[in-house]
Amino acid sequence: MPLKNEGIMIVLSSPSGAGKTTLVKLLSEREGFTISISHTTRTPRSNEINGKDYHFISKEEFTNMINKKEFLEYAEVFQNYYGTSRSNIFTELNKGTNIIFDIDWQGTAQIVSKKLEQKLITFFILPPSREILFRRLSNRDMKDKLIAEERMKEFDKDILHWKNYDYVIINNDLELCYKQILKHINDEINGLKKGYDIKFIEKHIKRLMQ
Ligand code: 5GP
Repeated sequence: MPLKNEGIMIVLSSPSGAGKTTLVKLLSEREGFTISISHTTRTPRSNEINGKDYHFISKEEFTNMINKKEFLEYAEVFQNYYGTSRSNIFTELNKGTNIIFDIDWQGTAQIVSKKLEQKLITFFILPPSREILFRRLSNRDMKDKLIAEERMKEFDKDILHWKNYDYVIINNDLELCYKQILKHINDEINGLKKGYDIKFIEKHIKRLMQ
């Protein structure tokens, strides 16, 4: 991965179930991106480790951090709070570390609005179809179909924010999707022009919203 002195910030957002977490892990494993570990008030899932997947904290601790202005961004998602703590991020970026953020559209909008001097590239990941998304959501540890249905309703709202991202990528095939993201990152770092078929994305979004 080419680097120019300072690290860059990569944001990946997606409606729940579009495969973003896997992509974040791949970028970290293969390209050496450092994953920003968020703070959250949600309960850990059975496979999650405190300090690795998230810093799991209480609502009170989260409120304290808000009051002390410790968050670069924070948001309420599915009735829980999630936030990116400022600590370390800028030190790491100055050292040349590339950082990847797995955050929602609200947090992305907050970071974008800060107009930071560090390079920021934002990606919105979409599923290939509503049917596949519903299947993915129903196959999770949350077996409850009702939860999958709730998340589909969220999907209809989340998808509206695609326009605020630099790139929208369809996750039809994980490796292909990964390669597309990497190409955009490399092109951006090397100052190449955006090679991106926005008309195709618009059509896909229309289909997803039907
Ligand atoms: P989950 O509970 O499934 O891990 O995450 C739910 C949503 O919260 C995902 O869309 C994820 O990207 C988002 N999220 C995770 N960490 C943060 C964060 O620090 N800030 C914001 N704004 N969203 C986050």
